[in-house]
Amino acid sequence: MSANLDAQQQVRVVKAPPTTPGSLYTANRAPLLPSALCKLPISSITPRGWLENMLRLEADGMTGRLEEISPWCKFEGNAWASPTGEGDNGWEELPYWLKGYGDLGYVLKDETVIKGARKWIDGVLSSQREDGWFGPRNLLTGVDGKPDLWPNMLMLNALQSFYEATGDERVLPFMARYFRWELNYPEQDFLAGFWPNVRAGDNIESILWLYNRTGEKWLLDVAEKVHRRAADWTKGVASWHGVNITQSFREPAMHYIQAKDPKFLQAAERNYATVMGLYGQVPGGGFGADENCRPGYGDPRQGFETCSIVEFMHSFEMLTKITGDPAWADRCEEIAFNTFPASMTPDLKALHYLTAPNMISLDPGNKAPGIQNGGTMLSYSPYGVYRCCQHNVSHGWPYYAEELWLATADRGLCASLYAASEVTAKVADGTSVTIREQTEYPFEQTIRLRVSTAAPVRFPLYLRVPRWCAKAAVKVNAQAVSVTAEPLSYIVLDREWKNGDRVTLELPMEVSVRVWQKNKGAVSVDRGPLTYSLEIGEKWAKYGGTDGWPELALTPTTPWNYGLVLSPKSPASSLQVVAKAGPVAAQPFTPETTPVTIRAKAKRIPAWQADANGLISVLQQSPAQSDQPEETVTLIPMGCARLRIAAFPTVGAALEGQRWAAPPAPPLASWCNPGDSVLAMNDGIEPANSNDQGIPRFTWWDHRGTKEWVQYNYDKPRKVSGVAVYWFDDTGSGSCRVPKSWQLLYRDGEAWKPVKAKGEFGVKRDTYNRVDFEPVSATGLRIEVELQPEVSGGILEWKVFE
Ligand SMILES: [Zn+2]
Repeated sequence: MSANLDAQQQVRVVKAPPTTPGSLYTANRAPLLPSALCKLPISSITPRGWLENMLRLEADGMTGRLEEISPWCKFEGNAWASPTGEGDNGWEELPYWLKGYGDLGYVLKDETVIKGARKWIDGVLSSQREDGWFGPRNLLTGVDGKPDLWPNMLMLNALQSFYEATGDERVLPFMARYFRWELNYPEQDFLAGFWPNVRAGDNIESILWLYNRTGEKWLLDVAEKVHRRAADWTKGVASWHGVNITQSFREPAMHYIQAKDPKFLQAAERNYATVMGLYGQVPGGGFGADENCRPGYGDPRQGFETCSIVEFMHSFEMLTKITGDPAWADRCEEIAFNTFPASMTPDLKALHYLTAPNMISLDPGNKAPGIQNGGTMLSYSPYGVYRCCQHNVSHGWPYYAEELWLATADRGLCASLYAASEVTAKVADGTSVTIREQTEYPFEQTIRLRVSTAAPVRFPLYLRVPRWCAKAAVKVNAQAVSVTAEPLSYIVLDREWKNGDRVTLELPMEVSVRVWQKNKGAVSVDRGPLTYSLEIGEKWAKYGGTDGWPELALTPTTPWNYGLVLSPKSPASSLQVVAKAGPVAAQPFTPETTPVTIRAKAKRIPAWQADANGLISVLQQSPAQSDQPEETVTLIPMGCARLRIAAFPTVGAALEGQRWAAPPAPPLASWCNPGDSVLAMNDGIEPANSNDQGIPRFTWWDHRGTKEWVQYNYDKPRKVSGVAVYWFDDTGSGSCRVPKSWQLLYRDGEAWKPVKAKGEFGVKRDTYNRVDFEPVSATGLRIEVELQPEVSGGILEWKVFE
């Protein structure tokens, strides 16, 4: 026994794990592209630390008890639980919830949750017709008389997890019969309707999952058919709806597994890069799509839907396994740590629709047109006001926990997403080993692994090196390992492992500053995988709901309009990290419990204010000018900050820099319908027609047949010589029409005077009505209208010309 075990140790650095066949776990089966990384059975991984607590909060919070509060999850009379598929609430909500709820039970090994999910799964499994269709029968004619396949895609995910956790023998034949139905369904009507068509990549994932378990070749024909009929994401972004992007940008990558042509993978990567390049020039890992991405709306105040957060995480998890590219796991961590926690209250009993890098008031008031949708979007609620997210949020943390560890094709294990956990898995010739991972990551840079094995066994252990880490260091049994690993690679420790072997991985977290050139030169402060936000005092107030399930508004108690004062030569040197002593709290994602803060120098920018709706106004150019005193402010991780400034302006030394303008005074009106907004008139959003229901509008509703006015105010005289008005008219669906007549007045001193028009005051629909007039110097402009008898009216856009 003179062999030196250390000498046998091989250490290497790779860009991705090998894609050779031979995995000990269910991997892609020929002729599919071999898997780079494979999911382990759900019960293999036991999350610990804050992640385990997050799952426990989820079980005790909204997701675990959603049947108490969501009418869509009432078992009695539910179409999803009925053997005949007859009943109520047969659309996406129940499967959205069940797909995460079941996994929550499986990862926590929580028998109550597992049993609760089982009741629904049994109902679904009993609902299949002879021809293979299952679930609500109303879906068979859900889109213009054709089948709506979208909700079934979600239910397939719930069934896959159920099978992975239980091995229930009903599942595989059930799925096969459904895919046979898909194969037989007439091609021209297959995947009809907007949502099924644009999101069909999810359907492909389930078909290939089944193929990998049964090897029935005809399933590949179904997968091919789905790709053929799906919206085309290979030539670019096929829909600019936020959730469509987050789950469908990867559709070509799903097809790549079958087609094996790299152009498909490249298409998915290009979709991601396109969207992030245009709307993701902000911290937090998401992008601005406060329903849809909209040209001109890339400021860090634009929100990212909670559905988008969890779907992006899920997509990144899939792409990690398909490609082995560590960049995808990195992106998953970025959004999981920085954006996801702020989407919910700390007790996980309520959520909001939109999370943005810069948010200063989470009240229930209307924030359109600064964000796309009117009505309540930002305050926290456990109810159906955020119906899709309320159900879909369920899978975020459970899926994340299932992906911490992955199997490699060379019969090793990969630490893909770092969190305290335990994994028990087969390696090498099938020997079972357990690895205990101890860390407070992402709040700590050290990851400690301890191997337990009945007998020595050789296998490769892959350790992901994150994008932000230039000096990863490894010790095995306290001995430093000589290795230099680039960011976005894996360190592979390929050696004979003995019981009790220890690995220490250091991922040094340096403070750095990112500059967002496309967002006016704003900056974000990063340390490791965390981005930091201004700490803002929080005032929580209940505005609705019950004592057990309150709806909560969150407003600031301290100033937020700071720019950072950074050393020009070395921005990060101005920032001082302060780690709190003691153990990390069970719920570390709050301002009070954050384990780490950063001290920074800052000055207030008085012109940076909220708009008339209480929405933070957009960034202006950095560096900004400020005559305010320098202060020391505290930054906390974005994930801890529900009120947040994470894309900061910088402030120049002395009085250098751009002088910021205060937001323009909001237009005034004789009356504005509470559901509409005066801000719509000059939001710059071009109407498609006079009955464009997809954009913000101003109306005088429900004033009918009256004389009314709207007005722009200027703080100093402005030369104007023309206006153009796009009237709102919802003939066919409502009671707003173009006005009977109108005229334009300008303010000269205190007096309102009519302009000398060179043409008619037009009332044409579906176009701008432009009027030029003799130039005037005005401190205000006013449109006076006479509405048509018995109807109201409104304006989609009002432009003013010099
Ligand atoms: Zn949603």
